[in-house]
Amino acid sequence: MYKRVVVKLGTSVLTGGSRQLNRPQMVELTRQCAELHRQGCDILLCTSGAVAAGRAELGFPQLPPTVASKQMLAAVGQGRLMFVWEQLFDIYGIHVGQILLTRADTEDRHRFLNARDAIGALLAHKIVPIVNENDAVATEEIKVGDNDNLSALVAVLADADLLLLITDQPGLFTADPRTNPDATLIPEVRTIDESLKRLAGGSKSGLGVGGMATKLQAADVARRAGTNVVIAAGSAPNVIVRAVAGEPVGTRFPALESPLENRKRWILAGPAPSGTLFVDAGAARALRQNGRSLLPAGITAITGLFERGDTVFVREPEGPILARGIARYNSHDLARIRGCQSAEIDKVLGYAYGPVAIHRNDMILLE
Ligand code: GLU
Repeated sequence: MYKRVVVKLGTSVLTGGSRQLNRPQMVELTRQCAELHRQGCDILLCTSGAVAAGRAELGFPQLPPTVASKQMLAAVGQGRLMFVWEQLFDIYGIHVGQILLTRADTEDRHRFLNARDAIGALLAHKIVPIVNENDAVATEEIKVGDNDNLSALVAVLADADLLLLITDQPGLFTADPRTNPDATLIPEVRTIDESLKRLAGGSKSGLGVGGMATKLQAADVARRAGTNVVIAAGSAPNVIVRAVAGEPVGTRFPALESPLENRKRWILAGPAPSGTLFVDAGAARALRQNGRSLLPAGITAITGLFERGDTVFVREPEGPILARGIARYNSHDLARIRGCQSAEIDKVLGYAYGPVAIHRNDMILLE
């Protein structure tokens, strides 16, 4: 049985396909969480539904499709959403605590640790953290945008061993089940490749923000950070309890062999990369096969503006993204020392932070 579980409930699950919160459905989901809580499992909920609840509360007003409209609906709905969860968990004598996050809270090393401490304190007191994006204040730049990716960040923050993405689909299929009668459920995914991404890309459900594509992104982030992931349907009987018990439900993505250490998790889940280092074939081989650090000599071009300490992508000009890592030099400096031997850095810049552009310990290979 899994010990610490993030249960992500999408709008389509919470509304049961209707236009407002479906309380009977929420009662049943709460019952399952309470049963696991009683068995000693740490449960975190990542809940959507703030915007939907706000819209219903205001009587489905006609609004311009602006960020401010969404912010307003979330501001009205988040409190109501939370009130429903409070009441439902109260039936079982379980306290809940609201945590509202934005991407900025996981991008900054400091705030990442603050959020992690808050979650840790709630769990230590057997309080169920109920997490949503802080939609009322999140503008596009600091928004995660969808709760699939948000739930993966929460799983990383909380060191969860299972991320359960509960949706209106039974899992990931070999083709779109609505149009292809031969489509079958994929019980387990070990490699998230381009063909799988293409498959998921075409199956946006239309309800809520995320489709299968964002679930796949979230699954990828979480499993790389050492968290198992299951995508399953909220309507399947006892689905949360069964998934946490390790029974085969939905589509499972096993955590990759070795959980990444703390810093590497942060590289993956925290800051959105602000630039890309293009490398030559020799450097790519050294990273891929020999687990080397990236030296300035192997860098052919740089895009984006970034500071020393920011996260950047590494790729070959024609290839997919090879790695993600923390740059030891800012973009201006790297543009000046690219192609240089490390011994020349000091001469070119007038100072040096060391011989590497990205240290191997600060880098995660994505292939
Ligand atoms: N945070 C949004 C809400 O609570 C939902 C985002 C999503 O469904 O992915 O309304």
